[in-house]
Amino acid sequence: MAILKVARLGHPVLRQDASPVPLDEIRSPEIQRLVDDLIETMHEYDGAGLAANQVHVLKQVAVIEAAQQNPRYPDAPDVPLMVLINPQVTPLTKDLEEGWEGCLSVPDLRGMVPRYTAVRLQCYGRDGEKIDVIAKDFFARVIQHETDHLLGIVYVDRMQDLSTLTHIAEWNKHWLGVKVQAD
Ligand SMILES: [Zn+2]
Repeated sequence: MAILKVARLGHPVLRQDASPVPLDEIRSPEIQRLVDDLIETMHEYDGAGLAANQVHVLKQVAVIEAAQQNPRYPDAPDVPLMVLINPQVTPLTKDLEEGWEGCLSVPDLRGMVPRYTAVRLQCYGRDGEKIDVIAKDFFARVIQHETDHLLGIVYVDRMQDLSTLTHIAEWNKHWLGVKVQAD
């Protein structure tokens, strides 16, 4: 396993579409290593999720996990470790809710991002098993953030009010606790 270099905003790889993983390749050593490295890199940087684009790999693979002891998201509810391969996300509501997001590719910043409060996630797990779940609130937010990466979309593209784009030091001073929410 390895901690991979994370691409930052401005790197073209963050603006490219990732390709689906052929189903018979999910269990290949290459994809399994990518999954392991994504998990290790996410843990190293205290991310709530990480998509393959962010480590310069254009494959539809992402990992998410938010534990309450995550120092970057102390108020976030637990999201169990999940591997998303070839994810399809369908909104289950028209309701959008604003919440704070950060991104390992946009270091030291936070911004308010509107997201659907409930989505259906269909994807494959690391063993090639089919996953079909309904996710709400913070779980739904993290899924939308990571699957956006696989489409070349970064959270700042979704922001409706750029005046909330905030340096983390100022966020801690002026915004913490105002309305906390996701990577
Ligand atoms: Zn991100």
